[in-house]
Amino acid sequence: MSDSEECLHILEHVYAYHDGELGAEEVRTVSEHLLTCEDCMGEYETEKTMRSVIKRSFASESAPESLQARVGLALEN
Ligand SMILES: [Zn+2]
Repeated sequence: MSDSEECLHILEHVYAYHDGELGAEEVRTVSEHLLTCEDCMGEYETEKTMRSVIKRSFASESAPESLQARVGLALEN
């Protein structure tokens, strides 16, 4: 595998890696590559940051929504 082919392979798996969906063998392949490849590490860091931002914005939006649903139910009954 050439460097760029390996990077492509890693980048295809970096999302699943982040979500903990990879097997032990793949996790080792990805994490070893991330340690030696700045490009892929940067990609992984970006992914990590984006996910936490998305998660945070979901969390702040879903709270009032579920509250609304509960208030709605209370009003119906
Ligand atoms: Zn790479």
